[in-house]
Amino acid sequence: MPEEIAIIECQKCGREVGRLSDYKGRQMLIVNGIATTFWRGVCVNCGQEFHWDVGTKALAELIGQNGQKP
Ligand SMILES: [Zn+2]
Repeated sequence: MPEEIAIIECQKCGREVGRLSDYKGRQMLIVNGIATTFWRGVCVNCGQEFHWDVGTKALAELIGQNGQKP
């Protein structure tokens, strides 16, 4: 089973969107029992757009790590 890292919530109303998990060093978002690397949609509660992509997240982390180097 993937290891749970964090609960992803709607930025507007706080409703749970999915759970960020780590499986064998790869991060994925689990929504209703489905592991996904890309998720896009709208919160059914408040209409807030939601977009999650493991590709862009990995890129952001890479740039963040580079930024920490002297
Ligand atoms: Zn919402």
